[in-house]
Amino acid sequence: RDRAREILSAVEDREDTRLGVEAMELLDAYGIETPQGGIVDAPADALEIAEDIDGDVVMKIVSPDILHKSDIGGVKVGVSHENVYDAYEDLVSRARNYQPDATIIGVQVQEMVDLDAGVETIVGVNRDPQFGPLLLFGLGGIFVETLEDTTFRVAPVSRPEAAAMTDEIDAAPLLRGARGRDPVDVEGVVETIQRLSQLVTDFPAILELDINPLVAGPDGVSAVDVRLTVD
Ligand code: ADP
Ligand code: MG
Repeated sequence: RDRAREILSAVEDREDTRLGVEAMELLDAYGIETPQGGIVDAPADALEIAEDIDGDVVMKIVSPDILHKSDIGGVKVGVSHENVYDAYEDLVSRARNYQPDATIIGVQVQEMVDLDAGVETIVGVNRDPQFGPLLLFGLGGIFVETLEDTTFRVAPVSRPEAAAMTDEIDAAPLLRGARGRDPVDVEGVVETIQRLSQLVTDFPAILELDINPLVAGPDGVSAVDVRLTVD
């Protein structure tokens, strides 16, 4: 809780309150699993992070002006160590093409999360002036707006309520293992909903926080992309 408070006050002191950098640390402070990696502002540093990670990596542009990174080609999956430099330069030039005056913080390098064995979900919270903090759970990834398979509760939620959310979406059978696939770690999802619920209850300054995707795999969950807006 103390660490979370420090992170949030650093965010509040800045103009930009929509960055993923601190958001990842915030989740970490609340025990929500995030992929190994980091954010850097030079290709050599990107390579250094990649070399600490086994196998290929994912690289993403980090800019407060680019909210949907994949829309502008700002997410590269399966980047081998040899291609880290090129990928870095390419991500930055794509961002510049998209918006010449965009503020570019750098590039995020992450371990690859196995999407084939998992399900991309979204867990989020949005502070509603009338109802308070609204928790959202649903099918995530880049199709979230198209499919709109989501359910809501006002935070804080009990464990049974969080569990009910994972049962309510149309895609619930997918979580339990459809068509010979292994079931995903639904307990981990429930735990994540509860931790997020606790986080927004502890910190009223959090206006909006979206984990999209929270990849739910057979052996655990991982918060791959986070967006945070503070008061
Ligand atoms: P944005 O939502 O801004 O487009 P994301 O970080 O959510 O950016 O990445 C978009 C998609 O790329 C994700 O929904 C997921 O399918 C894939 N992806 C992102 N990071 C990883 C990762 N570490 N491992 C595997 N796939 C990833
Ligand atoms: Mg995303």
